[in-house]
Amino acid sequence: MRVDILGTKVDQVTMQQALEKVEEYIKNREHRHIITLNAEIIYRAQHEPKLKEVINAADLVTPDGAGVVWASQKLGNPLPERVTGIDLMLEIVKEAAVKGWKIYLYGAAPGVAELAAENLKQKYKNLKIVGTQNGFIPSNEMPALLADIKAKDPDILFVALGAPRQEYWIREHLEELNVPVSIGVGGSFDVIAGKVKRAPKIFQNMKLEWLYRLIKEPRRFGRMLALPKFALKIMQETRKKQRSK
Ligand code: UDP
Repeated sequence: MRVDILGTKVDQVTMQQALEKVEEYIKNREHRHIITLNAEIIYRAQHEPKLKEVINAADLVTPDGAGVVWASQKLGNPLPERVTGIDLMLEIVKEAAVKGWKIYLYGAAPGVAELAAENLKQKYKNLKIVGTQNGFIPSNEMPALLADIKAKDPDILFVALGAPRQEYWIREHLEELNVPVSIGVGGSFDVIAGKVKRAPKIFQNMKLEWLYRLIKEPRRFGRMLALPKFALKIMQETRKKQRSK
């Protein structure tokens, strides 16, 4: 089932169910788009109809963060749990090492995808990483990247260009690339490469991962202003719903 949050549809799936979907997509060999959606992007989609379209056309949309789960509860259609980009990526990689799925990493600053690949291969000796490319190549190198992805024929393409750039990019190339699973994972390569530290467990458990990121990366402040606006909009929606009952 899909939960409507300000016009964007989020799937009611647990991490386990999301992983089962990934396996199914790889078995069926169709090109599927997975989005891990956070509150900031839902808010942005309010003013960007094209973004809303891309989100609602995706095959699987999971709640990336406590804000989205909170909103679903407020709106009376609770999502079971957070399924964030980094967590989903790490779970998929673990499964890939066992099942032999081929992985391609595209995104982040030069050298980061390679470093992330090395770290992953150190952890999972059998992991098949068939290609990497940084997320800052000029547009005239894009055809070569697309050709490389097609030639390497991965089962899963992780795209780390930040949201929503990665969602637009995947949507644009989905059919042409024909990769079974393409998923945008934001800053995950930076975390796996050890360039950026993830919030300590205590922040994660208290659902304050956003606060930790804000302290570490104050440049995110402008973007994070979307969060209180998102909360306000949800409260308005809730009140509207209650009045119409
Ligand atoms: N990035 C990229 N190409 C670009 C812009 C950004 O590869 O043109 C990368 C950037 O290096 C970083 C990631 O995209 O690794 C964005 O991380 P951020 O944490 O800002 O993304 P979010 O998780 O908030 O979507």
